[in-house]
Amino acid sequence: MIKPDAVANGHIGGILAQINEAGFRIVAMKMLRLSTEKAGEFYAVHKERPFYGELVEFMSSGHIVAAILEKDNAVEEFRKLIGATNPANAEEGTIRKKYAESIGRNAVHGSDSDENAAIEGNFFFSGLEKF
Ligand code: GDP
Repeated sequence: MIKPDAVANGHIGGILAQINEAGFRIVAMKMLRLSTEKAGEFYAVHKERPFYGELVEFMSSGHIVAAILEKDNAVEEFRKLIGATNPANAEEGTIRKKYAESIGRNAVHGSDSDENAAIEGNFFFSGLEKF
C-alpha cells in the first residue's frame, strides 16, 4: 500500500517508479479510501498495540493505493526497498527514508510473509482484478 501521507504529498509516481526500477511486476493495483472499519480489519493483528487507534485513524484519513507485486523473494526484497518502519532508522535511498514523515505516517506498507501477502492481496482484490 501507498499510505495516505504519501498519496496526499504527491508521491504516488515517485514510489511506483522506484518499485518499477527495482524489478517488481504489478499484478493488481487500485486507489481507494478505507473506512475506519476496514482499516481496523486490515490491521486487526495490531489491535492490542498502543498505536492501534492512531494507525486506524491515519489509514482511513485519505486515499491509498493498494497493489499486489510479484518478484522472486518479493516479501524480503520489498521490505529492503521500503526500509525500516521508522524513517529515522531507514537506510539512505529507501522509500521510507525518501518519503515517510514519521514512524506512524511512514508512506508505505509491505506484507511481512508470503502467507500474509496472500491474505492482504485478497483483502483488496478479487480474482478478476489480478493479472
Ligand atoms: P511495518 O511492518 O514496518 O509496517 O511495521 P509494524 O508491522 O511494526 O507496524 C505496522 C504499522 O503501524 C507501521 O507501518 C506504522 O504505520 C504503525 N506503527 C508502528 N509503530 C508505531 C508507533 O510507535 N506509533 C505509531 N503512531 N504508529 C506505529
